[in-house]
Amino acid sequence: MKISAHRFRPMDIVGGDLAVDFVNTVTNWDVAPSDWLDGYERLLEWAALTGRFDDAELAGLQRRAAADPKDAGAALARAKALRLALYEVLRAATDGRSPSSEAVEAFMIAWKQAALVSQLDLSAVPPRLDLDAAQAGLDIVAHRVAAAAMELLTDPRLARLKRCHGSRCGWLFVDTSKAGRRRWCDMTTCGNEEKARRYAERRRGTD
Ligand SMILES: [Zn+2]
Repeated sequence: MKISAHRFRPMDIVGGDLAVDFVNTVTNWDVAPSDWLDGYERLLEWAALTGRFDDAELAGLQRRAAADPKDAGAALARAKALRLALYEVLRAATDGRSPSSEAVEAFMIAWKQAALVSQLDLSAVPPRLDLDAAQAGLDIVAHRVAAAAMELLTDPRLARLKRCHGSRCGWLFVDTSKAGRRRWCDMTTCGNEEKARRYAERRRGTD
């Protein structure tokens, strides 16, 4: 897959779920996929935009990655393997088919690794499952994504998971609109592109 340097912006976070947004760090999945994670630092840049990681946590990961780039590279590779498995599993859900057993297996392995370093905090209201940051180390981003994916896959929200209709997009999103008729990852990008394409088609039709 082609890797391209991309500066993440808030408009890249449109999936409505951490796991979905992580899958969307690849764009144009179907036609010519482009991987926007060109390094571990970039993964942290993305994580910061999701609002699911606090600044101190991210700063700690940044220091650790800088001190051991080889470890950071390996953690990024594990995150990308999870992303590929999740794309298959989530994409299958949008298509109404069963995902490949290899993808399910890879996702389950990643989720179990996250579960191994999780702690149940019963004193929180409501009780929650926390990742032990020290044990999770550089894998904390992937672990949190895996935990989010399991929540989504076992939740009625899964029925609202959709794929953008944009011609060169392939992004997934959870449609939280009341009517459930959202068709694009973002109306201002893919939605407009689609409108322009239809307009051009109509023009051609009348020439
Ligand atoms: Zn789109």
